[in-house]
Amino acid sequence: MFRDVLQRLGIQEVNSGVYAGNWVKQPSGGEFESFNPATGKPLARVLTASRADYDQAVESCQRGFETWRTLPPPQRGEIIRQLGLAIRQKKKDLGMLVTLEVGKVLSEGEGEVQEMIDICDFATGLSRQLYGRTIASERPLHRMFEQWHPLGPVGVVTAFNFPVAVWAWNAAIAAVCGDSLLWKPSPQAPLTAIATQHIVNQVMADHSMPGIFNLCISHDASVGRWLAQDRRMPLVSATGSCEMGRDVGQKVAARLGRSLLELGGNNGVILAPTANLDLALRAILFAAAGTAGQRCTTLRRLFIHESLADTFIQQLVQAYQSSQVGDPWEDGVLMGPLIHETAVQEMLQALELAREQGGEVLCGGTRLERAGYFVTPTIVRAPGGMPIVQTETFAPILYVMTYQSLDQVIREHNSADQGLSSAIFTNDLLEAERFLSATGSDCGIANVNIGTSGAEIGGAFGGEKETGGGREAGSDAWKAYMRRQTCTVNGGGELPLAQGVEFSLPQI
Ligand code: NAD
Repeated sequence: MFRDVLQRLGIQEVNSGVYAGNWVKQPSGGEFESFNPATGKPLARVLTASRADYDQAVESCQRGFETWRTLPPPQRGEIIRQLGLAIRQKKKDLGMLVTLEVGKVLSEGEGEVQEMIDICDFATGLSRQLYGRTIASERPLHRMFEQWHPLGPVGVVTAFNFPVAVWAWNAAIAAVCGDSLLWKPSPQAPLTAIATQHIVNQVMADHSMPGIFNLCISHDASVGRWLAQDRRMPLVSATGSCEMGRDVGQKVAARLGRSLLELGGNNGVILAPTANLDLALRAILFAAAGTAGQRCTTLRRLFIHESLADTFIQQLVQAYQSSQVGDPWEDGVLMGPLIHETAVQEMLQALELAREQGGEVLCGGTRLERAGYFVTPTIVRAPGGMPIVQTETFAPILYVMTYQSLDQVIREHNSADQGLSSAIFTNDLLEAERFLSATGSDCGIANVNIGTSGAEIGGAFGGEKETGGGREAGSDAWKAYMRRQTCTVNGGGELPLAQGVEFSLPQI
């Protein structure tokens, strides 16, 4: 069954990992295998980019940009609309490939592809709404306005856990803005990227526009490092760990380029006394254990009001214990595998540290004895100030703490180094408003009566502090992909200067 899916998506036993306006037949950076984390078995092999292959992809991107930027934005939008249609036709297969390559349960695999479709729809509308402002000029008969132009080729580095949605957030928006792209996907998800590139290629071939979306796979971070240092890429949009972002951010800044960073999170939920506990239980289970704890928005820190703690924790433990862990393509499974052996070891080490620091493992904390990288979702009761709570371990570990006052818990909530997603469960309007106020949550995303994960594409997505400050997807996130130009036109016969400055020609 799985072979058929791969075949329908154009995946062969050995695949080129470089697309530079056309597939580079024999990229010379070496070869590696992509594995199914649920079985530990290889899916297919990928030929990776050498520096010369990378340069070819950048040149294709530059050539693509020269023509693409001259197309009126609504025409670019029409092509992105067609891309959305092409992705719709492959939704089931591509969703299954996400499941096979990164271990998400099927509905999440398909949900990720739906996110690609949604952002194509959004970008199509956006292509007619790249608005600039008209500004009141202080000089008579002068017109001042700002306009937005395409920025140039954009480097897009993606993480394994959203192997296609994050590319689409960048690609659809950047493309209607007039930019070309070079995608460096995660080494854990190369086949999903190659399959996506095949879909894109069909659409772009219909318009004889081969060099707009390019692909460059390496088995490690090398292509990402080249992008960060490459002056030909005015913008590098990078999604991944804070460690990666620190490196990319510094390298891009050193050449005074632009970076758009979407990095790690250590997301918290406050469960207040008036919360609807049924709703909160379901939301917390999905946010903390869904996607095997491998979302940037995964709930990792739960602060429960002390009046609710004992009963609620008991219910949560029961819900955890009845959640099914298993093959992500099977019905009824809530949680698939972790991405690789290192992730399993990092989770077990974090739990060892948690125990040493006074944490009590209430459920989970084990590895399943079977092929693949399966663990059980875990709840740790954590005493206040436990250091490991401040670390983003990319696994299903939920640290549970109690609190007494809202002021105190907001301070504690905001003490994390990252600032991505946050939520409060409460039916008390004043508490909800306090959480959303300027002295409330310090995160890029703040929710009331909704978990921390599962954002819609219409909003700008991203976070503060060590999450990197970038914003992608909806709202006005498109502005990151364009250059702003302030223009003034003198429609009169005089030359008045701003601020009343006089500068007359001397009498000759
Ligand atoms: P990672 O940092 O290991 O890798 C992400 C990507 O960056 C990969 O393509 C990798 O090859 C590349 N890379 C790594 N080091 C690099 C460097 N020094 N220079 C250039 N490129 C480099 O992350 P991961 O394990 O794939 O993903 C998990 C992490 O990503 C978590 O921290 C998660 O919170 C974060 N994430 C954040 C968001 C967000 O939108 N904020 C979304 C998804 C994932």
